[in-house]
Amino acid sequence: MTVSLDTIVSLAKRRGFVFQSSEVYGGLNGCWDFGPLGVELLRNIKEQWWRAMTLRDDIEGLDAAILMHPRTWHASGHVEQFADPMIDNRTSKARYRADTLIEEYIARLRSKGKTAEADALADRLRNAKTADDYYTIIVEAQIPDPVSGSRDWTPVRYFNLMFKTYIGPVEDESSVVYLRPETAQGIFVNFKNVLDSSRRKLPFGIAQIGKAFRNEINTKYFLFRTREFEQMEMQYFIVPGSEQQYFDYWLEQRYQWFLSLGMRAEALRVTPHEKLAHYASAAADIEYEFPFGWGEIEGVHSRTDFDLRRHQEYSGKRFEYTDPYTGQKFIPYVIETSVGATRSFMAFFCNAYSEEEVPSTDSKTEVRTVLRFHPQLAPVKIAVFPLVNKEGMPERAEAIYRDLQRRWKTQYDDSGAIGRRYRRQDEIGTPYCITVDGQTIADGTVTIRHRDTMLQERIAADRLVEYFSAVLQHQ
Ligand code: ATP
Repeated sequence: MTVSLDTIVSLAKRRGFVFQSSEVYGGLNGCWDFGPLGVELLRNIKEQWWRAMTLRDDIEGLDAAILMHPRTWHASGHVEQFADPMIDNRTSKARYRADTLIEEYIARLRSKGKTAEADALADRLRNAKTADDYYTIIVEAQIPDPVSGSRDWTPVRYFNLMFKTYIGPVEDESSVVYLRPETAQGIFVNFKNVLDSSRRKLPFGIAQIGKAFRNEINTKYFLFRTREFEQMEMQYFIVPGSEQQYFDYWLEQRYQWFLSLGMRAEALRVTPHEKLAHYASAAADIEYEFPFGWGEIEGVHSRTDFDLRRHQEYSGKRFEYTDPYTGQKFIPYVIETSVGATRSFMAFFCNAYSEEEVPSTDSKTEVRTVLRFHPQLAPVKIAVFPLVNKEGMPERAEAIYRDLQRRWKTQYDDSGAIGRRYRRQDEIGTPYCITVDGQTIADGTVTIRHRDTMLQERIAADRLVEYFSAVLQHQ
């Protein structure tokens, strides 16, 4: 189903998944806080990624510092090139990323059926490089400000997206450091440390999860483009010549990972990059169809030896690998998989959302909102209810709750009609609800109600741990 972004944002806030950062002070643009349920969902996504990456023979984990030596960012090219073209409208004072402004104008042309005009502009945009190129397109195509309609634009300037700060007490040029704009560089600079300490042979990978910061010109679409976010990146070091094989392999692995966690295949696609960075030999995005359209959630890139070679050049240290069989020395090539943990949180959230008509008690229908999270991702796995608050049911239900809570995130709820309690759990995506009723007291069985089918089954209460160990596996 298509759901509006407003619905997602308001459910996320109401049920404690995501809050605006510093909301009491009016909020801080592009920053979000993960509430009690959000932090569980985010941790589960990261845990699934970590397990998929590191519970195998050929990948090691790493957790590098956010602050790195500033030369890192000269070597990586971020100081010179990690910049977006920015333009201001003099009338509305609104600020835009020039390329996004043009892209959105092209989309508007297409929606009005002006395909030829849209194609011509898209062609020019593909070839634009300098600030002047973008400015000329905007002026010649007479692109108006979407807010005010004004065409009074400032020139385009490039704006570096890295957050700058100072290390130590003196604020001068020599103490400048950056909040990392990606986690990848922490992996590249530690390549030799990991290689030597873990006695690895190629091919092998290094995986890392961590915060990244980008001073985006326009933040938008909730968690999609934020200034502080989390990434899950893996660099796979390979023998030159094997890049196509491993690029194909990792693209497929990563695509399958999303499917294995319940992502709908029709809302997931792979788009190869049209424009490759000069050092890249292949690149593709895994995209999800968000309420606002298709957007990248993960990039898979074949980066040759660009990054290690640059760090070798800038640090003066050797980044070469000696092949143990042939004795040949070379700088390894790299296949990178780079996914936003917070951006994929939003994709999993949108993917899980559904509304459906179900029979209500007064023989009419009502709409139930369900987050159909994969059980591995669901923030709460189980809810336990006493049918009524008497006849020994609360005591029995509480004992079951305490036992399950030691192993899986479990909630206890004894307030309101049982139907309402189911709805509350559906809305946060709890896959299993257990009800303790009169029969429990008589024969020791409980009902398990399944979120998606709403079907119930009866099982012996003393088999619950065994049951959930099987369906929830390690979580
Ligand atoms: P975009 O073109 O959307 O800015 P990018 O191509 O610069 O993204 P990468 O540098 O390849 O993105 O980053 C890898 C992943 O990190 C992205 O696929 C996305 O999931 C996540 N990511 C990047 N920038 C942001 C951001 N500002 N907010 C949230 N997630 C982000």
